[in-house]
Amino acid sequence: MKERMRIGLYSLSSCEGCIVEILNMEDKLLEILKHVEIVDCRLLGITGEGNIDIAFVEGFISSNDEEEKIREIRKKARVLVAMGDCACSGGRFLIKDFGEASGIRADPIDKIIKVDYYLWGCPVNSEEFLILLRDIIQDKKPREISKTVCSECIFFEKECLLDKGILCLGPITRGGCNALCLVNNRACFGCRGLSEDANIGGFIKILKEKGIEVPDYLKKLSEVMKLGEKTH
Ligand code: SF4
Ligand code: SF4
Ligand code: SF4
Repeated sequence: MKERMRIGLYSLSSCEGCIVEILNMEDKLLEILKHVEIVDCRLLGITGEGNIDIAFVEGFISSNDEEEKIREIRKKARVLVAMGDCACSGGRFLIKDFGEASGIRADPIDKIIKVDYYLWGCPVNSEEFLILLRDIIQDKKPREISKTVCSECIFFEKECLLDKGILCLGPITRGGCNALCLVNNRACFGCRGLSEDANIGGFIKILKEKGIEVPDYLKKLSEVMKLGEKTH
């Protein structure tokens, strides 16, 4: 039998909701465990030694101790995955939070170490986790996620909420959730953060054209991004 891959599930500053989401996949977990061995996971009471094949890390960095911890994890992991919006963006996952400064240290892990793959969401989507894990085990290049929520929403052929005068952040939000909220008849509130090429100015223009009130956080975000363009 092929040797199972050694994986570790690690938490920095977090609510541990991402790891719980993974451990909740009880039915699929048994199948997964045929291919991987969990060698380190505080929530399961497993503390392992030695190198690991894949480290899944949730949570942001809030202290020097955590900075040290993530460097240690990186050293022993062949592949490292940032799991959940805390690890990927420092917890500023809601678009409205991008223009804010809380004053509390909340660094995304790629500020300190190299991240190989990102799993967005709060918590992570267990299906996305499984697909990425399968791709890594099979040494396949992981699939590209859709650029925006809109690019996934259009396949459901529902009337666009913007056309109904309802604010929906799909056009500027990173895809990958399969338009979860829209499928459940709710507007996207941007929980996966800004898409790579989000055009805030263009989005504000569309909102105005459709008679939708532009929220303050979008105006602020637009200013912050303009400032960023000037200083780069
Ligand atoms: S991304 Fe969400 S669920 Fe995951 S650790 Fe952070 S707050 Fe918890
Ligand atoms: S409803 Fe929202 S996510 Fe769907 S197409 Fe319209 S703006 Fe995009
Ligand atoms: S539709 Fe928007 S708010 Fe809902 S899960 Fe997807 S990214 Fe998050």
